[in-house]
Amino acid sequence: MRIDIATLFPEMCETVMGESIVGRARRANMIEIHCHQIRDYTLDKHRRVDDSPYGGGKGMVMQCDPIYRCFNAVTASFPEKPHVIYMSPKGKVFTQADAVRLSEMPRLFVLCGHYEGVDQRIIDRIVDEEISIGDYVLTGGELPALVMCDAIARICPGVLAADECFMDESHYSGLLEYPQYTRPEVWEGMEVPAVLLSGDHKKVEEYRHSESLRLTREKRPDLLGL
Ligand code: SAM
Repeated sequence: MRIDIATLFPEMCETVMGESIVGRARRANMIEIHCHQIRDYTLDKHRRVDDSPYGGGKGMVMQCDPIYRCFNAVTASFPEKPHVIYMSPKGKVFTQADAVRLSEMPRLFVLCGHYEGVDQRIIDRIVDEEISIGDYVLTGGELPALVMCDAIARICPGVLAADECFMDESHYSGLLEYPQYTRPEVWEGMEVPAVLLSGDHKKVEEYRHSESLRLTREKRPDLLGL
């Protein structure tokens, strides 16, 4: 899949998306991620991309035109319009189910707002959905875009190594993941649960499932409809 991120801070996005598992997947051409500087598309001689809001009020609003030019330039060679997401605290709160749904799309174009956000008309013209990462307000859409893109990228085929699996992780099946342990068997007097050392795969499965249920009931009863 290909993700294009339109932002006023492409270096911030490049840095994060160049590291660790996602960076490795990009270098191996498992996923394409491109970060675009919206300011490169303004016609203003001072490279301005924002102006004060009509109707008055504090702050600045990102103008339609630089965003639209950026979008048209990036997508000109695409066979069809990509799915366009505007990161916004007014959007639907992002979940693992959204990550799975969006990872199945061939192309995403992600718009990051700043200041007071973007002119409503660019949303009306190009945006397919608005996504929020939670009920709080951040200074810009970059961190939300990075959170969302990381969650999407890691479930794209080939991105996680063969021995890493997202299907038994928290939220994939609607439950929280069971507790994990690694060496040593005893640390500071605390022992690894004996069943995990038993070599009995069926018992390990049963233990993990019951722990998943227990943790979900304790920490997130809402996921079980309780
Ligand atoms: N004035 C806007 C409002 O009240 O809804 C908030 C603008 S916010 C300061 C600037 C930008 O940060 C937004 O345009 C959006 O792209 C991004 N942003 C802030 N909080 C976010 C969140 N919880 N989820 C997604 N994007 C967010």
